[in-house]
Amino acid sequence: MRAIQVTRHGGPDVLAFGTVDDPIPAADEVIVRTSAVGVNYIDTYLRRGLYPSTPPYIPGTEGAGEIVSLGSEVSGLEVGQRVAWCAAPASYAELVAVPAAQAVVVPDGIDDAVAGSSLLRGLTAHYLLDGSAHPHPEDTVLIHAGAGGVGLILTQMAKRHGLRVITTVSSDEKEELSREAGADHVLRYTDDLAARVRELTDGRGVPVVYDGVGADTFEQSLAATAVRGIIVLFGASSGPVPPFDLQRLNPAGSLSVTRPTLAHFTATPEELNWRASEYFEAIEDGDVDVRVGQRYRLADAAQAHADLEARKTTGATVLLPAD
Ligand code: NDP
Repeated sequence: MRAIQVTRHGGPDVLAFGTVDDPIPAADEVIVRTSAVGVNYIDTYLRRGLYPSTPPYIPGTEGAGEIVSLGSEVSGLEVGQRVAWCAAPASYAELVAVPAAQAVVVPDGIDDAVAGSSLLRGLTAHYLLDGSAHPHPEDTVLIHAGAGGVGLILTQMAKRHGLRVITTVSSDEKEELSREAGADHVLRYTDDLAARVRELTDGRGVPVVYDGVGADTFEQSLAATAVRGIIVLFGASSGPVPPFDLQRLNPAGSLSVTRPTLAHFTATPEELNWRASEYFEAIEDGDVDVRVGQRYRLADAAQAHADLEARKTTGATVLLPAD
């Protein structure tokens, strides 16, 4: 099969397109012919070696396609079914061995490009709102990188929950997208960002900040959080937050900070399928419109990574192995 491999740690140019052996399913796996492969920020952290990985390896964890064979102990799934996943290694390939427990059946009304490029972000948005924090309807939340992949879905899911949403973005085009997703107020990353958030919340600040940007935004996130509020630090697009003195949370308002990861909120098939079904339902109801902002051939994965890291992308990014 054709696949992308990370040949060594480094920039997008270490991604090589070539031919490798087809995967053989373990007893609890299914083999899927991919029609859409999701590109996520974490793929770039692993490629750079910021998160542990050992080259050479096939990157990617997310995609969608049709089951072509079943491991000997798989039950409840069939050849020909359309599935999506977001936790199967080696997904930048024409064929992927997906653990059956990680395969989610895709409803008829949702196409592969949407499912295969957004399940990870959709599940993330779901647990951010109902897992790592629990904002109440009519609460105001701050979402950084509101026009990004997670940001657009999280904004729409937050509006579905009845929340008031403030976002940050870096350009006019992204501001427009964030507004279309339902953001009530769209701000830029500025030194007085926290002051602007306080103006919009009668001086109180917000009870929940969703910060996937990290190093560049964390101080403003702290300053924008209301007394007894929580900062959900779920990513590091601008780099990791430097070591932090927990004592600072006390005078700042008895704040909490959490650093969650999706795997801990989808640890059982029951929780995974519950979150996936609610996410797909939000799409089918028309409350979440997944913007697949960029489509590339599988062979052009390096360009996809370069664009993601250069902040050129909006919404979800997908590789199309059949093109
Ligand atoms: P995005 O599409 O959101 O891309 C990252 C965005 O971050 C950019 O588009 C940019 O938007 C913003 N940004 C701000 N500063 C920088 C910078 N210095 N360099 C690059 N980008 C910057 O990516 P994803 O939707 O894939 O992921 C968003 C975040 O969520 C990532 O940090 C990712 O690791 C994290 N994540 C965490 C999960 C978890 O369970 N913990 C699961 C899934 C994702 P702008 O130009 O508007 O600033």
